[in-house]
Amino acid sequence: MPELPEVESVVRALAPMLTGRSVKNVRVLNRSTVAGSPRKPSVLEGRRVERVLRRGKYIVVHFDEAFAMAVHLRMTGWLGVKTQAQVAEEQDKFVRMVFELDEAPGRGAEWLLFRDIRKFGRVWCGRREEIIALKSFNKLGPEPLAITPEAFAERLHAHRGRLKSLLLNQAFLAGLGNIYADEALFEAGLHPLALAQQVKPDSARRLHAAIQAILGKAISAGGSSIDDYLHPDGTPGWFQRELKAYGREGEPCTRCKAPIKRDVVGQRGTWYCAKCQKKR
Ligand SMILES: [Zn+2]
Repeated sequence: MPELPEVESVVRALAPMLTGRSVKNVRVLNRSTVAGSPRKPSVLEGRRVERVLRRGKYIVVHFDEAFAMAVHLRMTGWLGVKTQAQVAEEQDKFVRMVFELDEAPGRGAEWLLFRDIRKFGRVWCGRREEIIALKSFNKLGPEPLAITPEAFAERLHAHRGRLKSLLLNQAFLAGLGNIYADEALFEAGLHPLALAQQVKPDSARRLHAAIQAILGKAISAGGSSIDDYLHPDGTPGWFQRELKAYGREGEPCTRCKAPIKRDVVGQRGTWYCAKCQKKR
């Protein structure tokens, strides 16, 4: 599932292609893609894109007149821009939504497509305040790249539960998923089952630094392409080659050479080094 670095890569690629352009019309090819949207996607017709940004794992597009669209890619969602000729030629049955864009200088007629093989992805359209008020949206915790070490440590000590589960909780921090939670814990030398309230102040600072470092490196690498994730132009990210814990069961730890273990924590596969990841 795309996490913060993958979604950030999508946003950075789409922003220059979409900003300033208007949506001529919107077609929904799969109704469950827009289920629960505050308003019909047709409210975006005739509106101009002002900004493309990210909040947690959501792509957020601001339109003029205070309208907005939020997109969650979930498992297999993909957003990208193609020409009408490409779309006609490909006849892609996994396209769930089509936004016809106005012609930009030097670009010609193009469509923004939402493609989603497994149909778990969701798109919400409406006024900005309606999108922000959505239940899944308004409970999001702070952005991991913006939170200070002090605020992070304070939040950590105020929560019960195990570090791995906490890092996956979007109300605690918005944007981490299974890959980067495991990588950050490995980098910080902290055990996934460590109790948040027992983590020492030094370790909390190390975890904060590890989260920011891992996310920063993964964004620079264009994210990790492990299952279906691809950039808006169809190319993969390459951070999967840099992973030190996630998916490496039985392979040697890059620090101590002990084999990486895999356990299930809160129903999620969790990879870690039992020797050098400590519980405090
Ligand atoms: Zn180790």
